[in-house]
Amino acid sequence: MSSRNEVTQMIEPIVVGKVELPKKVSSYFGENTFSEMIMQKMLSERTFKAFKKWQEEGEVISMAEADEIAHCMKEWAISKGACSYTHWFHPMTGLTAEKHDSFINIGTTGIVMEKFTGSKLIQGEPDASSFPSGGIRATFEARGYTAWDPSSPAFIKEVDKGKTLCIPTIFVSYNGEALDKKLPLLRSDAAICKAAIELLKLFGHTDVKQVYSTCGPEQEYFLIDEAYYRMRNDLLLAGRTLIGASSPKGQQLEDQYFGSIKDRVLNYMHDVAEEAYRLGIPVTTRHNEVAPHQFEFAPIFERANLAADHNQLLMDIMKRVAHRHRLVCLLHEKPFAGVNGSGKHLNWSMSDDKGNNLLNPGDTPEENLQFLTILTAVIHAVYTHADLLLASVASAGNEHRLGANEAPPAIVSVFLGEQLSKIISMLENGKIEKGHRQNLIDLGVKLLPKFLRDSTDRNRTSPFAFTGAKFEFRAVGSSMNISTPIAVINTAVADSLSIVVERIKAEQASTSNFREAVLKVLSGLVKESKAILFEGNNYSEEWVKEAQKRGLPNEASTAEALKAFIKPKSIDLFERHGVFTKVELHARYNIWLEIYEKVLDIEAKALAEMVRTQVIPAAIEYQAEIAGGLEILKDLVDSKAVELVDEAIEDRKQLLAGLTADIFYIRKNLKQMEELLKKADTLDPEAKAAMYYSELKPHMLHIRRHVDALESVMPDSMWVLPKYREMLFIS
Ligand code: ADP
Ligand code: MG
Repeated sequence: MSSRNEVTQMIEPIVVGKVELPKKVSSYFGENTFSEMIMQKMLSERTFKAFKKWQEEGEVISMAEADEIAHCMKEWAISKGACSYTHWFHPMTGLTAEKHDSFINIGTTGIVMEKFTGSKLIQGEPDASSFPSGGIRATFEARGYTAWDPSSPAFIKEVDKGKTLCIPTIFVSYNGEALDKKLPLLRSDAAICKAAIELLKLFGHTDVKQVYSTCGPEQEYFLIDEAYYRMRNDLLLAGRTLIGASSPKGQQLEDQYFGSIKDRVLNYMHDVAEEAYRLGIPVTTRHNEVAPHQFEFAPIFERANLAADHNQLLMDIMKRVAHRHRLVCLLHEKPFAGVNGSGKHLNWSMSDDKGNNLLNPGDTPEENLQFLTILTAVIHAVYTHADLLLASVASAGNEHRLGANEAPPAIVSVFLGEQLSKIISMLENGKIEKGHRQNLIDLGVKLLPKFLRDSTDRNRTSPFAFTGAKFEFRAVGSSMNISTPIAVINTAVADSLSIVVERIKAEQASTSNFREAVLKVLSGLVKESKAILFEGNNYSEEWVKEAQKRGLPNEASTAEALKAFIKPKSIDLFERHGVFTKVELHARYNIWLEIYEKVLDIEAKALAEMVRTQVIPAAIEYQAEIAGGLEILKDLVDSKAVELVDEAIEDRKQLLAGLTADIFYIRKNLKQMEELLKKADTLDPEAKAAMYYSELKPHMLHIRRHVDALESVMPDSMWVLPKYREMLFIS
């Protein structure tokens, strides 16, 4: 029995024990956050008011008020059992960052006591030199600042041995350039706010003070047993399998999606949800996804900045809780070849301060001129900046999904559904007729309710689909921080909203009929941007050709897609809206290109090591066995001890030849791959990324094909690496 077989025998879920049920979620939701309710209870009325004013109108609080908030925050955190605090932020490397400090202070009499001041709350100064800055500053220029983001509540992070107060912050350089992903998101929300308010004013809503983007990211993931994970260096080092033959059963029976959830997984989901609720993260939906052992969590949508914090936290919780269940949560976009990858459908809309969803079509969208204007602006934004949307989701991991025939292609298009498509084409012609009412669906059984058909059907293949009262950007990868895609959508939409406002105002100069002016502008916008509209199957070959004809960008390579960030039109866009400076954009381009290369570098080296030390030795052993057996067989035939048809000997020879060829090609390609890695050291970053995409990756795939061929002929007992059918089906 191989060590792999032994591990398989031992796999079983942990014993979770019974819990006291039922615990009402509302009784503990958000208990680990320094929420507005807690603040109101603990702060003086004056300070609480000042804090609210800061949140709503941007008027910064005084140092005395900050001191009071810091004191209360510390008292609250200590009462919860925390003894240290950290400024928590989203660095450009994608994870979250923390630098912990304790609350202790040594007083003049030498007595230790807990203290936390306003200045420490508002501003931190972590050493920035070890975070990538993409050339914004030299490594010796270490100063960087974190600044408290009062729009996201402080929270407590728990491990067995203690608790830490985490203060959400943004992270900037000495000169104020954003070194994180959150600040641009906040800036882009301000841009949306400004542009949308101008538009709403035209429609007579002069009392709206704030508009913000809203988001609900649907988080997909895989779970596998930790024992298997530990036996595979590719999962350990790269988060995905670099080799592995397909399982005879994959997702072809489609019996997993929405199927009943296995107990072990359900126990895990309960624990994740409980931790999430304590942190005020409103996860609500959980179900099986398409691939075996693939699942999804979706939250109730929130303001985008909060949704971004919560999604980062949720991913962290998912990983930590999995460990407690002896599972591993894989957030990689493509952990297993041949079955679906994982994405993070980003549901996006805008809301005003009264809670009105600006993308709500209402029952009669054709009569809702404001909705149609905003909808058209979004279409125009996606059309104009499709390349940026692609750039915002470009990464080594997502490269396995986009353009790879199963997830949104690397072409951005917008799906509207039948009803809205009709209305948009009427808009193009400048005339809107009343549409048909939504029809009732009658199920033909009296007992069952009749229900209304939605105004849009679904199109699962569309990368940017209108789904009821929001858009769903489906090209985001499962492991990604949603801040950048949101910042890009927000800025592009803010820009199109301003264009619409400008054009309507210009039209108004020649007509006093507002409706007429708007319709004229919308007709023009639809004409300009309708190439982005597509209702068909985005996975089809015809669409690729059609999209090319329409001049839509189709960029499957990460390095090429990232270039959109530094195009003059993008720099102009982001600078005009104060979201990124040119320096910040170049920094991001450099960092993300570098990360792409590092990921591929690690993958190639991990592959080489696994193949050299685990696959080839076993294959050579088997090869020797077969060769020896063949010799013996030939002797027996020669001495007439055994009678055999020639074909039988030939068959053995073929087995040996096949094995030998696989071993040979693997080794040959490994050598070539290592040459490529050496050559890469001499190339500049852009040439290196291009070479990795066009040469290194095909080489890795080539090696994989031969290794997978070996896996499917080698004796099970000699194969040490956990197989797909085990990882994906044994729980
Ligand atoms: P689906 O359209 O995939 O069936 P739902 O309608 O349940 O799913 O919503 C999916 C996600 O979209 C959820 O996280 C939900 O909170 C989010 N969502 C719904 N409305 C909005 C909105 N106005 N803005 C942003 N996200 C939204
Ligand atoms: Mg969805």
